Amino acid sequence: MSKRKWRLSKKNSRWLFIAAIGIAIVLSLVFAKLPVIVDKRFNPVIHPPPYPVAPSVTQVHNNLLIADLHADSLLWGRDLSQRHQRGHVDLPRLQEANVAIQVFTVVTKVPSNLKLEQNNPNSDDIIKLALVQRWPMATWNSLLARALYQAEQLQQLARSHNQFRLLKTQADLQTFMEDRQQQPQLTAGILGLEGAHALTGRLENVERLYEAGFRMLGLAHFFDTEVGGSAHGMEQGGLTDLGRQVVLKAQNLHMLLDLAHSSATVIDEVVALSTQPVVVSHTGVKGTCDNARNLSDQQIQAIARTGGVISIGFWPTAVCGENATAIVRAIRYVADLVGVEHVSLGSDFDGAVSAPFDVTGLPLITAALQEDGFSSEAISQIMGLNTLRVLETVFSSRA
Ligand SMILES: [Zn+2]
Repeated sequence: MSKRKWRLSKKNSRWLFIAAIGIAIVLSLVFAKLPVIVDKRFNPVIHPPPYPVAPSVTQVHNNLLIADLHADSLLWGRDLSQRHQRGHVDLPRLQEANVAIQVFTVVTKVPSNLKLEQNNPNSDDIIKLALVQRWPMATWNSLLARALYQAEQLQQLARSHNQFRLLKTQADLQTFMEDRQQQPQLTAGILGLEGAHALTGRLENVERLYEAGFRMLGLAHFFDTEVGGSAHGMEQGGLTDLGRQVVLKAQNLHMLLDLAHSSATVIDEVVALSTQPVVVSHTGVKGTCDNARNLSDQQIQAIARTGGVISIGFWPTAVCGENATAIVRAIRYVADLVGVEHVSLGSDFDGAVSAPFDVTGLPLITAALQEDGFSSEAISQIMGLNTLRVLETVFSSRA
């Protein structure tokens, strides 16, 4: 190599080095900032905190046992041990809101251009989150791996934080309830799956998810699967043969079955097959907000007959309103139709929805329940005891 050429290539390589450093800095900024931007954009709060209520309401609220059956908080790469100004849920905010039990539901595939009426399963928006948050490569094309990865995030939180526990057995639940008498800051999570497509068509994956800590199994999300129809799918059919086996297997393992997003036929068939209480973890009701996503009176009655709960969601298209009064209107409707013991909370916090408030706004629901004339006993049931009863029934019936 001539001296001149050598000098040129030395100069080139210096530029290449600077360009590489520049690209690395830009990429690391993108990977650090993009998940935050996405989280903020998809999980907004309509009324920002704080949410002041009368001292008498705070006193009642802080003595309740509060349980919520649905939050998708594991999807956004948010460190749940820290308090954030974005999204709806993290451990410090759950503690401030006096939430005892939060079910963390795991989303593994969502079609693009989502519609309430009909979606085909051919697109997948979760891959974008997986890439932006740098999930392990296995999650790029395995829905099961996505479920296991998110479950691991919650297990990690339980391992690293002594005020948070992951509940998996009746004994866990009992010990937690006893310990919480002395330590009111203690909070627990339960793992739930949103959509049986994560089983990837294999019955044995029910057991795999059970071993990973999942205790609630939602059969559907936004599209029909190998297991059965979604309320928003192309066919919206009933359970398949595999679907019937999945239901029986989950019941055998004493996992709680969640019929949110399931087609009308699947709801009827599962209720008929069920030997234990089933739930709809986040929903509205047609009686106060008539759309394709919400439950009919007949469906509410069928769920109640199993001993289960209808958990009312907080987002505007669930309750046709943007405040606690709209949420309580749906709660009142269910309580009047089937009894107060069959209605509970299913916020859908962090579910890519606008929430009227973040979790620290829960005292607004306690206040609205009081204003609506619910007794203190009824308020205790709605805010958590009904969900606790269902969890105890399903967990304790485990052989
Ligand atoms: Zn959902």
